Amino acid sequence: MAWCMQDKESSWLKIVEQIKTCTLCPLHKYRRNPVPGEGSLNAEIFFLGEAPGRREDEMGRPFVGAAGQLLNKLLEDINIKRSEVFITNVVKCRPPNNRDPKDDEIRACSVYTDSLISLIRPKVIVTLGNHAGRYIFEFLGNRRWLGISKIRGKVYEVNLRLDLRVKVIPTYHPAAALYNPQLREALESDFKLIVKALSEVRGEGRRPTLLNFIKH
Ligand code: SF4
Repeated sequence: MAWCMQDKESSWLKIVEQIKTCTLCPLHKYRRNPVPGEGSLNAEIFFLGEAPGRREDEMGRPFVGAAGQLLNKLLEDINIKRSEVFITNVVKCRPPNNRDPKDDEIRACSVYTDSLISLIRPKVIVTLGNHAGRYIFEFLGNRRWLGISKIRGKVYEVNLRLDLRVKVIPTYHPAAALYNPQLREALESDFKLIVKALSEVRGEGRRPTLLNFIKH
């Protein structure tokens, strides 16, 4: 479906309004601010994380704490501006004491996650951590999720049940890599795959058609 920018903005604002008043799962009881996500509505790259933390809950923005600083640095290293990408989480409200989000919470919040993916229609989805990877692989992609350490390090072509085929790069959550140099190295290497995947999808878009040959 082709969206004009005005339609996209108004759909985005509607989704934000719904999230602000959402009570679909118990996490609404603990939030100070919901965190719908942020970034470009025309982003080619969509980052899907796990859940807002304390700082995110205070500010209503994703990835603004220490893990966010690392995400910014990883993006800077591959020359991608944070404003060019879109970032959200599988749940939009902070779980108490930063516990993992539960399956029923992730499912309840999927109405927004799926709407955001359908609105933005990214070319590449980067999943940060096990919950996000499993969501894209199993819930949306009908593929088996074998755990982040087995699956990371590759680009996957996945048909999402949102009428969308995307390249998926599963990697660790930056929070896990903050004090673990090995995971940080793995993250850095996985971020290089983003550049590769992006140049492939852009190249695919420019593949010559029969019309190009006739014109010459
Ligand atoms: S986490 Fe998602 S489903 Fe749960 S209350 Fe927040 S917005 Fe609603």
